[in-house]
Amino acid sequence: MSEDEKYMQRCLQLAANGIQGARPNPMVGAVIVAPFTSDYSPSTTKIIGEGYHVRCGQAHAEVNAFASVKPEDEALLKDATIYVSLEPCSHYGKTPPCADLIIKKGVKRVVVGCVDPFAEVQGRGIKKLQDAGIEVTVGVLEKECQWLNRRFFTYHSLHRPYIILKWAQTANGFIDNQGQALQISNEQTQMLSHQLRAEEDAILVGHTTESREHPQLTVRHWVGPNPKRVVLTHQRPLQQLIDDLYQQGIQSLIVEGGRQTHESFIEAGLWDEIRVETGAMTVSDGTHAPQLPSNVILLSSEVYGDNDIKRYIKANE
Ligand SMILES: [Zn+2]
Repeated sequence: MSEDEKYMQRCLQLAANGIQGARPNPMVGAVIVAPFTSDYSPSTTKIIGEGYHVRCGQAHAEVNAFASVKPEDEALLKDATIYVSLEPCSHYGKTPPCADLIIKKGVKRVVVGCVDPFAEVQGRGIKKLQDAGIEVTVGVLEKECQWLNRRFFTYHSLHRPYIILKWAQTANGFIDNQGQALQISNEQTQMLSHQLRAEEDAILVGHTTESREHPQLTVRHWVGPNPKRVVLTHQRPLQQLIDDLYQQGIQSLIVEGGRQTHESFIEAGLWDEIRVETGAMTVSDGTHAPQLPSNVILLSSEVYGDNDIKRYIKANE
């Protein structure tokens, strides 16, 4: 791992702390690094400031990073590099542009994880810095930086929420017991489901699940806001519903449907991630679990007690 990657890794770590507060803004981390010499290590670097975007409407990561620099280290800024996981903003939003602040602080170099897909930025922050004579490196740990803000990126580039299809199945591939709801999740995986709900903007069930089970779809085994509850009905075609969610600013959606609902999302290509929990139990008959699409790759597989959760994403087309 290069030095740039090492410090970008730290940005990503910091950024992730904004998972609940930053929404609908992206999670961003920033680290300020200055050259440092001592008798023991003739040429090295040290972190003199760091910060992340804590809450939407409040200071951006760069502002917090500069604010954390100690007065005695201010003189080091002229030789410093600031690492930011997402391109610094160039527009007046709820706060002034971070690109202007970076120029004012007079750092020597800026390292950007990835370009901001938001229409009002999209490279303008980088251009502003370059025009001011600052050396800019773009694309360090780019994939990781984009992945962290996959909801934000999907929303701004595909104009729809990031969609997670999620179901639980028995060891022999059924999602219910002869049409009756089945408790497959255990205490641990239930907690994970509720964490997921707290981190995503909306949750959808199909009308069959809705009328049969009246699920609460709220956050109870974790701490955080409840997602917006959405029901897919015959009156609301899928694409129209997705367009509505986009218009409402919904950046991510969990789908906890039955087989039909999941398959309609899969058929329309409207999915980004699939999470399948498989329990140890078996039933003699029931509704078959949805068929995984052919273009999936396994992202992770984790064991929780007798259950396991496999996460799939789309293979690159
Ligand atoms: Zn900013």
